[in-house]
Amino acid sequence: MTRYVYDFSEGSMEQKDLLGGKGANLAEMVRIGLPVPAGFTISTDACRAYLRTQQAPAELADEVSAHLARIEGQMGRRLGDADDPLLVSVRSGAKFSMPGMMETVLNIGLNDESVKGLAAQSGNPRFAWDSYRRLMQMFGKTVLDMDGDIFETRLEQMKAARGVEQDTELTAEDLESLTTKYRLAIQNATGRDFPQDPREQLDMAVLAVFRSWMGERAVLYRRQERIPHDLGTAVNVQAMVFGNLSEDSGTGVCFTRDPATGEKGVYGDYLMNAQGEDVVAGIRNTHPLHDLEADSPEAYKELRAAMDTLEHHYRDLCDIEFTIERGTLWMLQTRVGKRTAEAAFRIAGQLIDEGTITEQEALTRVTGAHLTALMFPRFDASAATAELTRGVAASPGAAVGAIVFDTADAQAKAAAGEDCILVRTETNPDDLGGMIAARGILTSRGGKTSHAAVVARGMGKTCVVGADSLVVDTENRTIAIRGEAGHFLNEGDVVSIDGGTGAVFEGAVPVVASPVVDYFEGRVQPESATDEIVRAVDRIMTIADRERRLKVRANADTPADAARAVRFGAEGIGLTRTEHMFLGERRQLVEHLILAETEEEREAALESLRPLQVQDFAEIFTAMGDRPVTVRLIDPPLHEFLPDYTHLAVKVAVAESEGHSSPADVKMLQAVTRLHESNPMFGLRGVRLGITTAGLFEMQIRAILEAFRVVRRAGAHGTVEIMVPLVDAVEELDLVREEAEAIAREFGEEPGAGKNVAIGTMMELPRACLTAGRIAQSADFFSFGTNDLTQTTWGFSRDDVEGSFFSAYLDKGVFGVSPFETIDVDGVGRLVELAVAEGRAAKPGLKTGVCGEHGGDPESVHFFHRAGLDYVSCSPFRVPVARLEAGRAAVMQG
Ligand code: PEP
Ligand code: MG
Repeated sequence: MTRYVYDFSEGSMEQKDLLGGKGANLAEMVRIGLPVPAGFTISTDACRAYLRTQQAPAELADEVSAHLARIEGQMGRRLGDADDPLLVSVRSGAKFSMPGMMETVLNIGLNDESVKGLAAQSGNPRFAWDSYRRLMQMFGKTVLDMDGDIFETRLEQMKAARGVEQDTELTAEDLESLTTKYRLAIQNATGRDFPQDPREQLDMAVLAVFRSWMGERAVLYRRQERIPHDLGTAVNVQAMVFGNLSEDSGTGVCFTRDPATGEKGVYGDYLMNAQGEDVVAGIRNTHPLHDLEADSPEAYKELRAAMDTLEHHYRDLCDIEFTIERGTLWMLQTRVGKRTAEAAFRIAGQLIDEGTITEQEALTRVTGAHLTALMFPRFDASAATAELTRGVAASPGAAVGAIVFDTADAQAKAAAGEDCILVRTETNPDDLGGMIAARGILTSRGGKTSHAAVVARGMGKTCVVGADSLVVDTENRTIAIRGEAGHFLNEGDVVSIDGGTGAVFEGAVPVVASPVVDYFEGRVQPESATDEIVRAVDRIMTIADRERRLKVRANADTPADAARAVRFGAEGIGLTRTEHMFLGERRQLVEHLILAETEEEREAALESLRPLQVQDFAEIFTAMGDRPVTVRLIDPPLHEFLPDYTHLAVKVAVAESEGHSSPADVKMLQAVTRLHESNPMFGLRGVRLGITTAGLFEMQIRAILEAFRVVRRAGAHGTVEIMVPLVDAVEELDLVREEAEAIAREFGEEPGAGKNVAIGTMMELPRACLTAGRIAQSADFFSFGTNDLTQTTWGFSRDDVEGSFFSAYLDKGVFGVSPFETIDVDGVGRLVELAVAEGRAAKPGLKTGVCGEHGGDPESVHFFHRAGLDYVSCSPFRVPVARLEAGRAAVMQG
C-alpha cells in the first residue's frame, strides 16, 4: 500500500521526486543534525492522487494524525490547545522550485480559545492576536478562495480609524476586533464560520496547497520553465517558530557564498523581532548578516557553523532561511542556491581548488546558458545608474537607444543611423519590421514565451518583456511609471535595457565588451587576465575540451568568420553556404546565367563566376589551415537572385503604357515569371536545381577542387567535403556524385571517406532519413540540416511561423520551446536517430554531424551526443557554448 506521509527524520535530499525540493532538504538537515522545527511531508503521490480523483486518498487522514501526534510529542504542545497551543505552517514544495506560485498557510491551530493560550504563554497578547488575524487572512484568501482585498480593506479601515500608518502600531485590542470583522467577512462570503477545529483547518489547508498546483499562475510558470504538469507538489507541515516574539527573536536569509560574484564570505540579511515576510517585503531595512554577531552572538555562532556544515555537505553554494526564537536558532529551509553566470564559473573553480568536487563534476555546475550570458556585451557596473524598473529577461544583451513606439519610427531611426528601443505593451506580427530595426525591445506585458520574447530570441535581439510598472501610451507617445505620479518618459528619450537581468534604466548606461569574448578572441591571455572570470572560464573550457567526445565545427561562409571560428576553438567548418557568394556585384553574373539563351552564353556566365569562386574557397581553406572544410553546393532557388516580381511587373507595365518599354526588363520579367514559385522553400532548390541547371554544380565543384589544389600546394593539409543539399532520394545523390567523381579524377583525387576529398549529403528531408540506408551507400558523410528537417517534419514554414502563431502555441503549451530553437527529440530527433542507425548499418563508421541552428543549442547538443553524432556545427559565436555543452554531455551521460 502506498504511504503518503513522511516525518522529516525519515527522508533525505535524494527524495525530491517524492518529498519535493523543500521537504527533501528539510529531511536532509534533520539527518545531519541541524536544528529544524519538527514536521512531516505529505508526498507528491498524495497530491497526484488528489488531482486524479479530486479527493484526498482515504489513508491520508490517519497517517496525518499519527505524524501530528509525533510532532506534538516532540514539541510538548498540542495543536489548538487552549493553554499552550502548537501552531503549524502548511507549505507547498514541488520537485523544482516554483517561487511564489503555490500556496502557504501559517499559524494553523489558532482559534478563539488557543489564541488566548498563545497570548498567555508568549506574554505578548498583541503577537497572539496578530497571528490569529494573519491566519484568517491567509486562510480566507488561499483556502476559501476569497478576494484578498476584503481583508486588506478592513485592515486599512482599522488603521485609519486609529489614526496610524503601520500595521505594527495597532494594539492587541485593535487586532482582536479586526478578527471579529474578518470572521464576519468570511461568514458573508462563504456562508460558514471560520473553522474553529484546528484539524479541520489543517486538512483544508493541505487540500488548498494541492489545488494550487493547478492554479493559473502555477500552470503558466511550469509551461515557461518546462516543468512537467504531472509531478504534483508535496506539502510540508511544520511546527511554527516565531521570529517576531521578542527583541531576542529574529529571522533572515543567507548564502554560503556571494551568489552574485561567487566570493566566499558572510552574505545575508536579517531583521530582529520580525517574520520572514518582513525581510522579503522590504518594509523595514534589513541588516547585513555579520551584524547578527552583536545582536545574537550564540545564534550567530551556531548559524555560521550550520552554513559551513551545509556547504560541506551539499558541496555547493547553499541558500538558507532561518529564524531565531528567543535566542534559539532554527533552520527553516535550505537549497543549492541560484547564482549569476559569473558566480557559477567562479564557484565551480573554487570548489575544485578546495578539493570539494572533481573537474568532471565542475562541468555539471555551469551551463551553456551561463556562458552565453557572459559573452554578451554588458552594462558597465561601475557607472552608477538607478534602475527604472525590472521586467522579465527575455533575450540577452545590453541595448541603449531612443524610445520609439512603432515600426515606422524604428525604421526611420535605423535608416538615420540612430539606435532605438521599440517599446510596446506587447508585440504582434505587425511589429516585425520595427523589431528588426530596433537595438532592443521592451514590453510591459507578457512572459518568456510572449511574441516579443520568442521573436527577439530568434533574432538574437536584446529584449525585456513584462515590465509591468510601465504604462505604455502609444497614442500620446509616452511611458508613465506606475506608482510614480508625474514620472513620464517621452518618445526620443533614451533608455537602456539589460536582456540578461530584465533591468531597465533611464538614460544611456555605458556598455563594455565582454572580457570572456576578449579571451576567446585571443586578445586576453588567461594567465595575465585581471578579471578572475576569464581564468575561471578558461579552466572550465579546458576541462570540457578534454572530456568531450563530440567534435565542434563552425558554420562559416567568409574567411573572417572562418578565422574567428578557429579562434573560438572550432575544429573545422561543418557548413559553408555558397549562396552568399552570388550576391552583391556578382548578382549580375547569376542573371546572365539565368537569362542565357545559348550554350555559349550559359558557359560564359559560369566561366565568369568560376575564378571568383576559386578565390572564395581558397581564402576559406587558407583560414582553416589543416582542418576539414565542408562546402555545400548552392541551395536556394535561383529567383532569389533576380529582381522582385511585383516591382518589376509594375515597372514594365508603366513603361509599356508610356510607350517606352525596355527589352531587357521585359526579358527579365519573363524569366522572373517563369521561375516564380508559390512555395519556393519546397520548389526548385538544392540538388534539384543542381541536376536541372546544366553546369552550375560542375562549376562549383571545379572551383572547390582548384582552390583545394592551390592551398595543398602551399603546404596546408586540410580536407574538403563537398556537400549536396536537399537530397530526397539516393538517385539524386548518385547523379551528382558521378559528376563530382569524374571532375575529382581530373584533379588526381579519388573521393571517399577519410580521403582528401569526400562527397556527402545534407540530411534535411524526412524521406532522406527514412531511406538513410540506401543514401549511405553513396555518401561519405551525413550532415543533418535540422532547420529544413524541422520545417519539413512539422510542415512549418521556417520563415513565417516564429513571427506569427508560435507565441500562441507556446502559450497554449503545444510545445515548451520553439522546435527551431531546441531539437524536437520525439519527432525530428527520431528521424535523426533512425538515419544514423540505418546509415551506419549500411556503412559502418559513417561520419555524421549536424549543421542546423540546433548545433549550438545546449539542450540539442546533449541530444546529438546521445544520438552518437561525430560533430556539431554552429555559428562561430556559439562554438564555445557547443564545446562546453559537449563536455557536459560526455560527463553527464557518459
Ligand atoms: C538546415 O536546413 O539545417 C541547413 C543547415 O541548411 P539551411 O539553413 O541553409 O537551409
Ligand atoms: Mg537546409
